[in-house]
Amino acid sequence: MGVPEVRPEIAAMPGYHSPQVDVPVRLNTNESPFAPPEGFISEFAEAVQSIAWNRYPDRSASALRNGLGRHHNVDADNIFVANGSNEVLQTVLLAFAGPGRRVVVFEPGYQMHVQIARILGSEVMALERNSDFGLDVHRVGEMLTAIDPHVVLVSSPNNPTGQCDEESLLDVILESTDALVVVDEAYAEFSTWSAIERAVTSDRIVVSRTFSKTWSLAALRLGYLIGSPSVIENLWTAVLPYHLDTSKQIAGEIALKFTDEMNTRVAQIVSERDRVQQALISMGVNVSPSSANFILFSPNRDADDVWASLLESGVLVRNCSSWPLLKGWLRLTIGTEEENNVFLQGLESALEQE
Ligand code: PMP
Repeated sequence: MGVPEVRPEIAAMPGYHSPQVDVPVRLNTNESPFAPPEGFISEFAEAVQSIAWNRYPDRSASALRNGLGRHHNVDADNIFVANGSNEVLQTVLLAFAGPGRRVVVFEPGYQMHVQIARILGSEVMALERNSDFGLDVHRVGEMLTAIDPHVVLVSSPNNPTGQCDEESLLDVILESTDALVVVDEAYAEFSTWSAIERAVTSDRIVVSRTFSKTWSLAALRLGYLIGSPSVIENLWTAVLPYHLDTSKQIAGEIALKFTDEMNTRVAQIVSERDRVQQALISMGVNVSPSSANFILFSPNRDADDVWASLLESGVLVRNCSSWPLLKGWLRLTIGTEEENNVFLQGLESALEQE
């Protein structure tokens, strides 16, 4: 007897790895450098006392969806919630992709989109961005017509480039395909543009969001989707029952009371991002202009050497150099002012080395 044979889609996959090294300054996974407000933690600790732990959670997470609806000025029926936006995206792809279906992504982009779509047995087509990481939307339209995809995934801002595509990209996708357009807005609070209004009025656009970045709650694993009720009802069919535990639903509801604190944190990060971006440019480093809480940069030296030298200075950034179309590029998550200064000093000394 042999060992059980794994599905070929799984065997062919490298998996998703974000190496964690124990260093003083960890700027590699696009989390918030700030803890959530004290008030959030104490209110959550209090609320946990009265959970009916012997009971399954509210399957439709109504209170949380009502809160998110108020936050975005949409109906609760426009909202779906899951364990991080990764699970949101997985649920969308469970319902709209899978075997015999084509999913289009733009590269370089968020590798989990590709991975989830492939694990579900979809055929993934990656359309390459230009060398400045932008897209020629006219050409994209032609290619999409030829591919005729079922789902198109767009990240805005895009990870790892940090850039936002022009809004006209959505129109081109809508006009050249019958696909569901998934706009991954994991970093939208750091930018100035969102597709939420369009998602509410269209059966063809959905937007995913997360508590992991702006809300300082990556540990919580909570994300949500905004779209039309007719799209969203399919997601409730595809997802497992009781997928979102009671404590998480409560934590999300409480977090929404701290919107002002979140906005302050976002403003701090955006101002630090702009400062670091200027510093990089004045050091002669190539920068992909960022609308997110991270910056993709190319140091004009061997990127692996610069990455290793930064690590020696106690700073961990993401080495993207082996990713598709990203040779020579590293990605820095914006940290606190002190962390960013340690990074800039480390980079300066890395660039001084021969
Ligand atoms: N989308 C993008 C573009 C991301 O960069 C990330 C986080 N790396 C996610 C989704 C997943 O976020 P979450 O923690 O909500 O699963």
